Amino acid sequence: MDIYLLFGPPGSGKGSLGKLLPKGSHLSIGSLLREQNIDCSNGKLVSDEYINSLVLKYLKQNSQKEFLVLDGYPRTESQAIFLKKYFQDRIKTFIHLSCSDEEVIDRVCFRETCNCGCSYHPRLKPSKRVGICDACGSMLKKRSDDTKEIIQERLSVYKKEKNKILRHFQDKYVDVSVERDFKESLKKIAQFILSGNENYIKDIRNFPIGRDQIKQFGRE
Ligand code: AMP
Repeated sequence: MDIYLLFGPPGSGKGSLGKLLPKGSHLSIGSLLREQNIDCSNGKLVSDEYINSLVLKYLKQNSQKEFLVLDGYPRTESQAIFLKKYFQDRIKTFIHLSCSDEEVIDRVCFRETCNCGCSYHPRLKPSKRVGICDACGSMLKKRSDDTKEIIQERLSVYKKEKNKILRHFQDKYVDVSVERDFKESLKKIAQFILSGNENYIKDIRNFPIGRDQIKQFGRE
């Protein structure tokens, strides 16, 4: 199994990207936790021990799959080390979705979600009928952690761990911008994952990743 790691701030489009991939090829840890009624509504991370065992079990059970996109894992350095210990050879690409804080805050504060996994935003992806999911017709709702206060906490958790995680995946690292042309960018990233062809993300890729940047990963 080839493993793709999808890393980015809240609201950068990890879940929306997952919707563009074949069913069963995208695992969102946050969604899995919500399905299991694990409380993750305060923006703080669930324990590494719990998350690592969850991921290990899932990967072992699904080892026959051709590829899997892990969304929201690893989120700490200890998770990164754990993943590498067991699946180093399987990790194909570490995809970093780049987006500014302002854009992230706007996306998350106005986001509406459905239990079926779809999410909407009045500017980026409005639902056809207000408050109703296009895909399944259910009522849309706000995630309880999609508030201005909690998004600050989630962003600070993300920033605190980011560079410590990135330095473990320097050789697999691809940084792509999802700031503008959101839907189009996600489509290109999905095509890249499905084909392995980097040409799809040529114009949204922030590269080359310089020596200074690599050194920076090591420092923080
Ligand atoms: P997400 O749906 O990716 O925004 O994740 C929602 C929440 O689930 C996060 O704010 C965390 O509380 C928890 N969570 C998701 N992934 C992880 C992870 N890898 N490690 C610890 N907690 C996580």
